[in-house]
Amino acid sequence: MPLSGTMVHLVSFGEDSSSVLLYNMHDNENSSAMAGRILSTNKGGRYYELMHNGKRNISFLFGEDSIHIDPNRIYTDTGIWQQLARNKITDTLAHQLISAWKDSLLNVLRIGERTLVIALHNNTNQNYGFKSYMPDGEYADEAEAVCKGCVRDKDDFYFVTEYPILDQLCVGQYHAVMQSNSRMTDDGSLSVYCGRLGIPYINVEAQHGHLFRQVNMLLFAYRQMKID
Ligand SMILES: [Zn+2]
Repeated sequence: MPLSGTMVHLVSFGEDSSSVLLYNMHDNENSSAMAGRILSTNKGGRYYELMHNGKRNISFLFGEDSIHIDPNRIYTDTGIWQQLARNKITDTLAHQLISAWKDSLLNVLRIGERTLVIALHNNTNQNYGFKSYMPDGEYADEAEAVCKGCVRDKDDFYFVTEYPILDQLCVGQYHAVMQSNSRMTDDGSLSVYCGRLGIPYINVEAQHGHLFRQVNMLLFAYRQMKID
């Protein structure tokens, strides 16, 4: 899928007819990619990953300018404007270009036809974890509810958009956070997009290299959500 002449590849595994979409959009989050490939091949679901330069951000040329965008900040108009502002660009054409590319991408993913979206992410930030969403945390206002599991790593957790899903995932050993769909900040991320449209969404978030944990968290989510 070319973006202003820069090729972004979309790699897929699993059955396209599945109602479950797995999606890894950050090209440097390789445990996520591996976990998604393993689950979709062995347990069902349609998996896609974005492949470009091996980095988190997608970089492309727009006239004389290089633009760098985070592929998890382009799913709303506001998010795209914020990404352009970081590049010191205010050009409406650049916005249209990214927006059209994002629409084509979501069409290929057939996101509107899925009954569940599972985003796969890896984090490095020592300060980011489920505790960031607790009452005294940095992102407390973004969360509707937090349930604390018994695993020791605070960076390995589910982030979901709906209560039925939170209830299903809270009964295990893992931490889970539910987004506040009324108070969330519109940063253009896929959870905001899904929250707005009422598309059931789970982000399985694990530290870089926690492949075994991430696979197990996916297996637990599959079992609880009755996916096969
Ligand atoms: Zn990510």
